[in-house]
Formats: sequence, structure tokens, C-alpha cells
Amino acid sequence: MQFYLNGYRPGDPLLHEAHPSVAGSSNDLPAEVDVLIVGCGPAGLILAAQLARFPEISTAIIDRREGPLQVGQADGVACRTVEMFEAFGLARRLVDEAYWVNEVCFWQPDPDDQRRITRTGRVRDTDAEVSEFPHVIVNQARMLAYLLEQLERSARRLSPHYGLHATGLSIGSRADDDHPVAVTVQPIRGGNAAGDPQTIRARYVVGCDGARSATRGAIGRELIGDARNVSWGVMDVLCATDFPDIRRKCTIQSADSGSIVLIPREGGYLARFYVELDVGRGSGSLVGREVTLEQIVATANRILRPYTVEVRDVGWWSVYEIGQRLCSKFDDVPVEEMATRLPRVFLAGDACHTHSAKAGQGMNVSMADAFNLGWKLAAVLRGVARAELLHTYSEERQRVAQELIDFDEEWSRMLSTPPRRPGDPDGIGMDPEEFRSYFLSHGRYTAGVATTYGRSMITATGDSQHLAVGFTVGMRFHSAPVIRLADAKPVQLGHVAQADGAWRLYVFSDRGGPAEPGGRFRALCEFLASDRSPVTRFTPVDADPDSVIDVRAILQHDHRDIELTSLPTVLLPRKGRFGLVDCEKVFCPDADAGDIFDVRRVDRGDGCMVLVRPDQYISHVLPLDAHDELAGFLGQVLLALRPAVR
Ligand code: FAD
Repeated sequence: MQFYLNGYRPGDPLLHEAHPSVAGSSNDLPAEVDVLIVGCGPAGLILAAQLARFPEISTAIIDRREGPLQVGQADGVACRTVEMFEAFGLARRLVDEAYWVNEVCFWQPDPDDQRRITRTGRVRDTDAEVSEFPHVIVNQARMLAYLLEQLERSARRLSPHYGLHATGLSIGSRADDDHPVAVTVQPIRGGNAAGDPQTIRARYVVGCDGARSATRGAIGRELIGDARNVSWGVMDVLCATDFPDIRRKCTIQSADSGSIVLIPREGGYLARFYVELDVGRGSGSLVGREVTLEQIVATANRILRPYTVEVRDVGWWSVYEIGQRLCSKFDDVPVEEMATRLPRVFLAGDACHTHSAKAGQGMNVSMADAFNLGWKLAAVLRGVARAELLHTYSEERQRVAQELIDFDEEWSRMLSTPPRRPGDPDGIGMDPEEFRSYFLSHGRYTAGVATTYGRSMITATGDSQHLAVGFTVGMRFHSAPVIRLADAKPVQLGHVAQADGAWRLYVFSDRGGPAEPGGRFRALCEFLASDRSPVTRFTPVDADPDSVIDVRAILQHDHRDIELTSLPTVLLPRKGRFGLVDCEKVFCPDADAGDIFDVRRVDRGDGCMVLVRPDQYISHVLPLDAHDELAGFLGQVLLALRPAVR
């Protein structure tokens, strides 16, 4: 983390100085904004946190709730989401507060007595190789609180407008209208309409307004899919129990009474029980009834036999009913008009896909939608990217949501199928081994790191993938430990990728590296510093030289063998009002933690460039001498702000 570039300031260096446009502005809802976000759930607040990084972009965020969420809803935080929180500087706090899901236990009917459950397996939840971060559990309200605090500390000093219900949306068709989307909002007090509706005009509107999204309806999209809502009783409880795995995540399947997903919660005492209610077998079915907390507790006790759970305090409980549904597109432009029209309204999170809570993906996928969209909107609004980039949001995220729904259907079916009885001649029911192996084989998926974006203007084909086998084009940049050359600090390379809207060009040196005059590494660095380079051409004059494309180098040398001052100038850029040199752009292998060239299988003979989008997904892997190919690829997305000089 870097600060004091433009002068030393006492106090908390992470509290950004307020942008001049904020001074003296009131907290009233503005009449016009660049982006209006409807909904302060996980999707809306990640998007707001991303846009708040750009003080020149005006953003408003509204919610019909009259204040922030306090209890309940989702709690599973996948490894990939923690990686994303790291980009916002929030990961450490999150992992400190959270419960870590280290192991998962499987409980099924005892083969000798089907009336009792017994532990049939215990597995590690997430392979350490999947991510440098753990899979954690923390309440959605806390996740949102971290983001709200982040917004308040941003240069934009953004805070939501609560108690505003978006009731209507229209998109103007005048070509010269630069705020074409009008949204009507109704103030709410004490749950009732209070005062006159207002209109806010925006360049772009993002409906992060949940499963019953009004934005979705306003742009003529609908959730299509399984209309059956499956009910689960959910309770966050402090309880007395003799169940031995109360502090481990468990899937618990009884013979006749249904199943439980048990999730220990942060703080060491709290636990969440997801209790299946739609059990059409046995006497305990609660289908079609008004469900009470007492009934959920009673069902839990039937499933847990011979163990018991006595609830002493209830933090939150609910009956969570949801079907698996999806919108065909996540913006307002019909497929047949994509060549002629650009999107103005987007949907993110539950507004465009819903699925069960069993795979713990809702909050994660919703935030990932917003992270995908945020940098694209910012790049277009800052004038650094072509507006066609916005089409890639729906293309990329709709496919991810479809995959999630397919996975969720299969996982839900398995969880709700009673385990096979020993010696059952018909073979009906789930084979316990199949259940366990499905869970294990989908570990990378549930950790959120299996997402692979297909070929597009921002994802190349991967012709040079052999140069960096462990950095798969289309997948997220998987971090690895390195040593920072300037100060010998062991760091994670991926953590340089902050949510600042910049692309990252990681240059992995060939064997010669900077020590070889006239070699390919030096030639690339000279090109990147030249007037022909995309770094120069796509970065606005007077902007931070890293603000559009941030070049980083990873050398094969021991960090003690290279003098900082011997590095090419593109790796020692001058910045800020004093023209200070940024010394933190070059890294070397960390032999103790594992040499990154070996860990990520980067070609030592040839080296390579790994180009990463602002949301940390790999766009391209290129040979070190593919200067024109790099410039050409980026030229499809970014706008040349300075003329090409040959
Ligand atoms: P949401 O979190 O739903 O946020 C949408 C926001 O938009 C809300 O704050 C809402 O007030 C606001 N809004 C809606 N309409 C308007 C409007 N017209 N104008 C202004 N504001 C509007 N997931 C789990 O994994 N486990 C659970 O147990 C679980 N329980 C849940 C219980 C409930 C009651 C709900 C609603 C969701 C639950 N979820 C659960 C789902 C999980 O919370 C979501 O997947 C996740 O929050 C999706 O985030 P989001 O930002 O897309 O939408």
C-alpha cells in the first residue's frame, strides 16, 4: 500500500482526501449522476465501492430500506470473494473476524440403525493451492458494513440514500441526451410513502435490487426457470448441543426427516442451521404450512437424532424460499440490436439470477457481477475505453450464472436425495461416496476460482498459453509469493492489483532479464516507455503513468543480485507533484515460499507478458517480443488518447 506521494499528512493515511466537488455539497439526492445504483445489497455496494475509487465519477446509491441491513441473509464468503476484498483493502479485517471453513464433515444414517445419524466422512474444505485466502463465513450485514465504511472514507465520501424506493424507469431516445435514463423514486418513512416522488437522471443505471427487481421489469427482462420455490428454514442460533461437529461445517442427511447444512459462524459460538422443510416423506413434512421457529428447531432435532440441539438464543431466523431462475440477458439491449445500440441499464446479483443457498454462492456471485461491471463503467465514463466494452458484461456474467444454476440444481438434488440404505435391492437413494466425491471435485468451483471467460474483445485465445501454463487466459490471476526487489519484502504478487481500474501487465523476464543489454526484456521495456507503447498512448496526459496500464516485472534473479537503479525507466516511473520514483514495481522469486516461475509454470527460457484486466482476470499471454500484438489487442478496448508515433 502506497501513500504520501504528494506530501506527508499526519493522521490515518488510508482516509482519502475529499475530492473538491464534495466540499460543500449537500447529502440530498442529486438530480443528475453518472451512475445510479438501485439497491444496497452486496452487488450494489461492491459496485459503489469500485466507482468511489474515481472521484471524477458521480454516483448515487439508493435503497428502499430505511437503513443498513443488520441481521441475516447470506454468510458464505468464497476464497475468490476474499481475493476481491483484498483489492479493496478489506481482506485482512474480513479474515480476522470470520469463521474459517477448514473442514467439512458428512453425516448420514448409521448403516446399523437408520434412525440414527453417524459421521461418514471428514474432508479438508479447500485445498491450500486454490487461493492464498481461506473460505470464510461472516454475516452479510458485516460484509456490507465494511463496504459502507470504505465508501465513507473514499475521496467521493459516498453514502447511500436510504428510504428511497425506485418505482419507475424510462430510457430516452434522443441522441444528444447524455443522461438518458430517468428513474422515479418514492421516499419511504416508517414503511409508508412519505412526500412526493422525485426523478433522478443518469447516464447509466444498475439494478442491484434483488430477486424482486423493479429495474428488471422496467427493461422488459424476466427471471426464467424453475417456478418451484424450495423452502429452507434458516436460523442463526446460540445453542446447547451434544452434536460433536457443531464447530465444523457439516452436511447432515437423515433417513426420513430431511437434511441440514450446518455452518458454524464467526465469534466461536453462533451457528447457522439450514433445515430442509420440503420433505415429502415421513411425518415431519412442513410443506405448505405456516412455519414457525419451533417447528424448524423440532425438525432439526429429528434430523440430528441421536443428538439434540437446545436453542438458547436466536440471532435471526427465516424461511428462505427460492427457485433457480435466470434472465436471458443482464442489460437493456436485445441481442439483435447489439451491433447498433449500447447498454444504458444493467442488472446484477439476485436481480438477474436466483438459486438456492445450499452452495453458498448468492452473495459471492452477486459481488462478482458487480466487480465485473464496475471497472467497465468506470473506464467508459473516464473516457479511456470504448463503450462497446459494456456489452461484455452481460456476455460474461450471464454464462457464469447459467453455470451456477446448473451446479445448484445438481447439488440441491443430491442434498435432498435420501442416502441409499444398506442392502437396498432397488439401489434407490444417493451413494454416500458419490456425494462426497461430487463435493470434493467441485471445490475449485465453490471457491469461486473456476470461472473462465470466453474469447472476446478483452479475452484472447491463449495461443501462447504454453509460456505461462499456470496463468490461464480467461481465468483469474492466481497470486503467488514473490520478494519485492526494492525493500526485500515478501509479498503476494496478485495483491498489487488493487480495485483502481488499471490493467496490469506482468512482464516475466526471460533468463537474461535486465542484465542482458539488447535482450528481449530490455527491448520490451524500451518499447513500453516509447511513444508507440500502449502505456503511453492510452494514458491521459498528466495522469498517473500507471492509472490505465500498470507495468510490473518479475525477474528470475535473486533480489540481492540486481541494483534497483539499473532497471529500465518504465519500471521506475516518476509520479506525483514531486516527480518521485515508484520503486515498488519489480519482484523476484521467493525461494523459501516457492519460485513463482516454477509454481505458475512460466517459461524460464522465453519469459512472457501476462496481461490482466482491472478485475484480475487474465486477458492475454504474449511472448516478450509481441509488441505490436499487445498494442493491437489493447487498441480494441482502450481509446488512444495520444496519437501513434512511428
Ligand atoms: P439483495 O441483497 O437482495 O439486495 C437488494 C437490495 O435492493 C435490498 O437492500 C433491497 O432493499 C433493495 N431494493 C429492492 N428493490 C428496490 C427498489 N425498487 N428500490 C430501491 N431499493 C430496492 N442467501 C444465502 O446464501 N443464505 C440465506 O440464508 C439467505 N437468506 C436470504 C434471506 C432474504 C430475506 C433474502 C432477501 C436473501 C437471502 N439470501 C440468502 C440471498 C442473498 O442474500 C443474496 O443472494 C444476496 O444478498 C444477493 O445480493 P444482491 O445485492 O443481488 O441483492
